[in-house]
Amino acid sequence: MLPGATSVLIAGGGPFGLMLALELGRRGVAVVLVDQDEGTAVNPQAHATQARTMEHFRRLGFADEIRALGLPADFPTDVAYFTRFAKHELARIALPSSSEAKRMVRSLKGSWSAAELPHRCAQKFIEQVLRRRAEALPGVTIRYSMRLSAFRAAGDRVEATVEAVDNGKKQVGDGEKQVVRCDYLVGADGARSTVRQQLGIRYGGETGVVRDFVGGRMYAVYARIPEFYRAVPHRPAWMNVCFNRERRAFMPAVDGKGAFTLHTQLRAHEHEDRLSVADAGAMVQAAIGARLEVQVLARDTWTAGHSLVAERFGEGRVFIGGDAAHLFTPTGGLGYNTAIEDAVNLGWKLAAVLENRAAPRLLDSYEVERRPLAVRNTGYAKRFADSLGNYQPVAEIEDDTPQGEAARRKAGQYFDAHGRAEFNIPGITFGGRYDGSPAVAPDGTAAPPDSANTYVPSACPGGRPPHLWLEDGRSLFDLFGDEWTLLRLGKADGQAFIGAARNAAIDLKIVDMQSEEARELYEADLALIRPDQIVAWRGNETGAAGEILRRLTGHG
Ligand SMILES: Cc1cc2nc3c(=O)[nH]c(=O)nc-3n(C[C@H](O)[C@H](O)[C@H](O)COP(=O)(O)OP(=O)(O)OC[C@H]3O[C@@H](n4cnc5c(N)ncnc54)[C@H](O)[C@@H]3O)c2cc1C
Repeated sequence: MLPGATSVLIAGGGPFGLMLALELGRRGVAVVLVDQDEGTAVNPQAHATQARTMEHFRRLGFADEIRALGLPADFPTDVAYFTRFAKHELARIALPSSSEAKRMVRSLKGSWSAAELPHRCAQKFIEQVLRRRAEALPGVTIRYSMRLSAFRAAGDRVEATVEAVDNGKKQVGDGEKQVVRCDYLVGADGARSTVRQQLGIRYGGETGVVRDFVGGRMYAVYARIPEFYRAVPHRPAWMNVCFNRERRAFMPAVDGKGAFTLHTQLRAHEHEDRLSVADAGAMVQAAIGARLEVQVLARDTWTAGHSLVAERFGEGRVFIGGDAAHLFTPTGGLGYNTAIEDAVNLGWKLAAVLENRAAPRLLDSYEVERRPLAVRNTGYAKRFADSLGNYQPVAEIEDDTPQGEAARRKAGQYFDAHGRAEFNIPGITFGGRYDGSPAVAPDGTAAPPDSANTYVPSACPGGRPPHLWLEDGRSLFDLFGDEWTLLRLGKADGQAFIGAARNAAIDLKIVDMQSEEARELYEADLALIRPDQIVAWRGNETGAAGEILRRLTGHG
């Protein structure tokens, strides 16, 4: 039996639901999370954890645990393009292994001035960590094989009906229903979200885009290919992309020891229901260009060609986030990462409202901040999908002739530029901004322009705080508090903020950084950082601190 009442009920335990449970649970909020599946993801799913997501995992204390997952520590995370994986290599973007990433990040400047670099690892491994961490929190209850089937607003609460699911039969249990009363309900229930549909919220944007590749019905084959690294004459890569006229595919390495997931687009005559395990194996062999043994572990289908964002991110005491609120084509690796940032954003706000440290109006800023980011990020993903999927192989691409060689050289130049654009995206990961939000106090300065491949560190309120490494080896972000932080970088002592925060029962950590570099980076004596590590305000001394804090916590 589930508890009959809780503060927050989360329907769905993918990355968004689990991360939200963590953000709430660590702040002492009572949470019940139900998921209709038997456990966390079985198939690998997403493979790219962006640097900003890694910085949030670091804030929560488990970035190193995540970085140790997936590929071996010395396995390069290169992105490589081939005609077929065992045939001609067309282009390669060299990217660091996880041990190199940890070393490199300490000396990078400019666009990659960061506490963490991206990590390449299957979502199924990450979900296991999020689940274990969330379950360890005293107020968090997680139950699988239970689905949210309906809900209704009931005054200042929500009444949700949860049903047991017989996963053996993939059926809803008969009569095993329970009502859970909650202060807030969150739909973390993925693309077919029951919560979004019951609220009558539609997705807007584009769907059903057709491309030669990543625009149509996709077939995923999770397989072990024991001889791959012995038989293939190229250096190992994390992301393997093949480009020929018979079978286009991308195939990330899952463990660096022979497990992969191949994603290919089904042709008009191919129907998933009629494809056998042997057919799936043959698809993998066609992509490799060699008849290596393929042990098929699982198969799945998904659709590429969506760039969808929900018209609203909730109603009253009900919110949606993650895939329930936006659906991506996975080029650029942004769906799960956008979901994680939704959870980070909603988590501190819900906790602050439930604990009376903020007014309910603060929750309006969730949609104000996250919806434009979802539109932005689905737009970037679509551009990458167009660039990858609309570029088509010419007939002679595999020929051992001068024409074939010329075609491969041309394709290689194209993929070199495409790969750098899709996989070197500090501007997307660090440059998301919340300008115009009521939970940000602008200072009249202009934010740097939005650009996928360049990030300009800026403490202009509404964006990620500029990062720097301290002499003792710590990241500046490691000094930030669990909730609010006041960075003192110059002469001003910030007493007005300290007093106002005390009066409003706001947990404010004071961090003194008397360094010229930091003062120059932040261009002010004081910077106020929100619990989700966003610059809320910056300036020199102010007498209006009380008013600013009231506004930032939904009272203004
Ligand atoms: C091939 C592929 C590759 C991808 N690669 C990347 C990548 O590299 N990087 C990236 O960022 N993203 C990637 N994505 C996208 C990423 O997988 C999703 O964006 C991410 O899983 C969304 O997380 P979520 O928690 O919102 O939803 P989901 O992961 O879909 O989780 C929803 C959960 O809700 C449960 N549920 C559904 N209905 C109910 C209900 N009524 N009651 C209870 N539980 C319910 C489901 O069982 C499920 O566990 C990829 C996607 C695909 C298909």
